[in-house]
Amino acid sequence: MEERIEAILHRLEERFPDARLLLEFRNPFELLIATILAAQARDEKVNEVTRELFVAFPTPQALAEAPEEEVAKLVQPLNYARKKAAFIKKVSQELVARFGGEVPASLEELVQLEGVGRKTANVVLANAFGIPAIPVDTHVGRVAQRIGLTRAQNPDRIEEDLRTLIPQNQWIRASHLLGFLGRFICQAKRPSCHACPITDLCAYPEKTL
Ligand code: SF4
Repeated sequence: MEERIEAILHRLEERFPDARLLLEFRNPFELLIATILAAQARDEKVNEVTRELFVAFPTPQALAEAPEEEVAKLVQPLNYARKKAAFIKKVSQELVARFGGEVPASLEELVQLEGVGRKTANVVLANAFGIPAIPVDTHVGRVAQRIGLTRAQNPDRIEEDLRTLIPQNQWIRASHLLGFLGRFICQAKRPSCHACPITDLCAYPEKTL
């Protein structure tokens, strides 16, 4: 399995040398908010929204005190805009009240923030702080299952399996590479197996060749 993982990551690296998080951010706070807004929304759309949102409310303090109506207007292009506006305001208030206006750099503390789960926390840890973590989003979860790296259905269990299989110093890179594979080739409805660089290493029984 070790060799298989190494081969998979190597080929994905060759295929997606620019694999990365597609959300734009300049600091951990912006990434935390962008990740919350990205639920059921396209990253490009989230980037359009956050560019304006962080001009109006650039800090946890500013967003914590922002009129909810104004926040809702700014995030309006996204699904569940009202809910998300209330949610990012609440998280900002918690950051101010409990963490001195700073985003904590630990999983234990991040998941204490209301509504922040492991996936969001891991996105922030890996991408804003460079702390080894594997955020399991829908793309990473799906390809991990299809390739045969996990049999789990639950994202937390999938994360556990991937953490066991992949060397820790490759967790962040692996999450970007698997994410790109899922986003651009191994799509949910119909994977493009003919264009996939790891067809021979994939265990999916319903390959479309
Ligand atoms: S071979 Fe097909 S199912 Fe397997 S990872 Fe590639 S695209 Fe996905």
